[in-house]
Amino acid sequence: MDLIQIDGSFGEGGGQILRTSLSLSIITGKPFEIINIRAGREKPGLRPQHLASVHSAARISSAYVEGAELGSLKLRFVPKEVESGEYEFDIGTAGATSLVLQTIFFPLALKGKSGSIITVRGGTHVPLSPPIEFLEEEWLLFMKRIGFRTDIELKRAGFYPKGGGEIICSIEPVKTIFPLEIKERGNLVKVFGISAVGGLSKGVAERGKERVLQILSGNNIPSIVEIRELSSYGRGAIVFLKAVFENTNVSYSALGEIGKRMEVVAEEACQKLLSFLKSDATVDENMSDQLILPLALARGKSSFRIPKVAPHVKTNAEVVKRFLDDVKIKLEGNEISVEGIGRS
Ligand code: ATP
Repeated sequence: MDLIQIDGSFGEGGGQILRTSLSLSIITGKPFEIINIRAGREKPGLRPQHLASVHSAARISSAYVEGAELGSLKLRFVPKEVESGEYEFDIGTAGATSLVLQTIFFPLALKGKSGSIITVRGGTHVPLSPPIEFLEEEWLLFMKRIGFRTDIELKRAGFYPKGGGEIICSIEPVKTIFPLEIKERGNLVKVFGISAVGGLSKGVAERGKERVLQILSGNNIPSIVEIRELSSYGRGAIVFLKAVFENTNVSYSALGEIGKRMEVVAEEACQKLLSFLKSDATVDENMSDQLILPLALARGKSSFRIPKVAPHVKTNAEVVKRFLDDVKIKLEGNEISVEGIGRS
């Protein structure tokens, strides 16, 4: 059998190489073998979140899998038909629920014959992964803008390191993905912020809000900040900021940690956003690497600008090209353009 060969040490050598391969393998029906899984990370191989991504991908596509074990550096994956339905996945740790969901989202939307409902348990606020506020406030908007019909609900927050969170996502089948062209971001309309806590007093969230308002008003940026008290298993906090422009949205966030004052969390999130505002970019760094896969399948040419090309974008582009022969992805300066293969 012809297996697409993927080297997991490519680029930053992280988990996204595996997740993108899983999604595209199911969508294209092309089996693959990946070696050196997460070779660029301190603890290489499959960690619980990656293993849960493999299991969930295998479950929705009745795939044949070899090497799906914790610590495994090598995996073979041979997908069959996608079956829509109601699925529940439990990562078992604070591994990111968002990343497991994103792995199976595109196959279910594009290859599923009817709607699906996915429940994922694990972490919802985990360093170096999309927090639930990002999924709800930014990712969902972009996905709907390019044609997906989906909704996400947070049942319970799961902060790192305890986890125990739960998200539910409904996914309707779609035939066409539309391209995304954002030449200019337009005027900044406002910043919408969320200062949220789980298992901590409301006063902590209020301090986060106050600091955000102080910094942003000092920069003449109109903003509103919502306080959220999340039902959660462990304790934690987040400050999430979304800048709403006439033609786009970008968002930045910072997570609380033991010993880190909420004012500092707020300052971190504000600094990231203020630094973005100095650029002429139209999409933020995180959203950009998460757009490569769907836009590679879109009907037509997409283009946008990011503050600077992060390793994840380049890596994801290379992995996508391994599965989709006709896709054209160009990274020139901070411009990204993707000519999708237009599956319908
Ligand atoms: P590892 O890197 O340890 O293998 P991983 O599989 O969790 O772990 P990456 O390959 O680094 O991770 O992928 C992380 C993904 O999470 C990327 O798509 C990145 O854009 C996204 N991401 C990271 N931090 C944020 C954030 N604060 N908001 C939104 N998305 C984020």
